[in-house]
Parts: sequence; structure tokens; C-alpha cells
Amino acid sequence: MNIKLMQVGPIGTNCYILEHDNKIAVIDPGDEAGRILAELKKSDAQVEYILLTHGHYDHTTAVPELHQALPETKIYIHQADANGAGSRLFPLAGQVDDLLLYDEGDILPLGDLTIEVLHTPGHSPGSVTLKAGDALFTGDTLFAGDCGRTDLRGGSWEEILVSLGRLGKLEGNYHILPGHEGTSDLDTERQVNRYLREGMGVT
Ligand SMILES: [Zn+2]
Repeated sequence: MNIKLMQVGPIGTNCYILEHDNKIAVIDPGDEAGRILAELKKSDAQVEYILLTHGHYDHTTAVPELHQALPETKIYIHQADANGAGSRLFPLAGQVDDLLLYDEGDILPLGDLTIEVLHTPGHSPGSVTLKAGDALFTGDTLFAGDCGRTDLRGGSWEEILVSLGRLGKLEGNYHILPGHEGTSDLDTERQVNRYLREGMGVT
């Protein structure tokens, strides 16, 4: 499993290129489709998936252009974010005709690696965390030392606390690969992240 991080767009969204067994999943291509495509061309691996942690425009803007360039690639989003749930959402349904929906418990194979979908609402109703090997792609649910905002339409402080608590209680340590800014690991966050701790019921 190899993970490449690219920061894209005006507010620096973390787009991840996850490669395993000569197959690739692109997570949150938020902008700069041309740069992402150039990066993908450096590898001869096949791009299997575009996976979205949620539907906000800063995580999805490059999707239509990538879809055009890579028409075989399967594009997944949670249903609750697919149709646009608020003004800051970029409704992909309608722009991408063969959008696929994933939900809690779904498993996507990437070679012999499995990517597991955890529905972690709160930042948006359709926010998910993707678990692959020892990595958690947490989108805008969990950041290093912080958590996502819940004041956008469809956001919920109560829900994000439940989602954070769930992530915090996962067994073992994971790399935390968030949708913005720096990366971390779960053991560190369990020590220092007051929102994660609040969600876990430890203060
Ligand atoms: Zn967001």
C-alpha cells in the first residue's frame, strides 16, 4: 500500500492517491484535475475508484473532469451528500451520470487490500471515513488536533461527536489522513484532541 498526498485548490484540500497491487483509488480530488491526472500518469497502475469522503465542493470539484478522462473509474459517494444538501455542496448527481453510492459497512477491494466504509456524519450528513490497512481517511470529520465544522447546512455537533467517539474507540493505531492540513495518528489524537476525547467520553 502506497499513499501519495497532493494538496489541491485554493484552500488546500488533501487529495490522496492510494495505490496497491497496481490499482489506484483517488480520494477527494477537490480541484486541479490536470495536476492529478499528470500525477496518475506517472504510474502504470489502473485507476479503479474515485472515493469521496463527502460532497463539499472543495473535495469534489475535479470529479467531472477526472470522470471524462478516466471513464472506466467507479465514483463513490454517500447518498446523503450526492444530491447537494446545502449551498456549499457541489451536487455530483446530475453532473456525473453513473455515480455510485456507498454506505456503512461497504467493502471495496483494491487488489488484495480492502477499503471499508464507515458512515461518520456530523460535518455533513453523508460524511464517511475510509479504512484501508492501517490508514483512516477521515475527510473533514477528524483533523490533526481538531474536527470539522458543523455549522454548514446538514451539519450536526451531536452527530460529529458520536462519529469522533466511534473513531477514537477503534482498536489499535492508525495513520490519520484528514481532508485538510497535516496528518497524524490515532494514538496521538486520543491523547491530544479534545473533540475526539469528548466524543469518546473522556475529558
Ligand atoms: Zn467539508
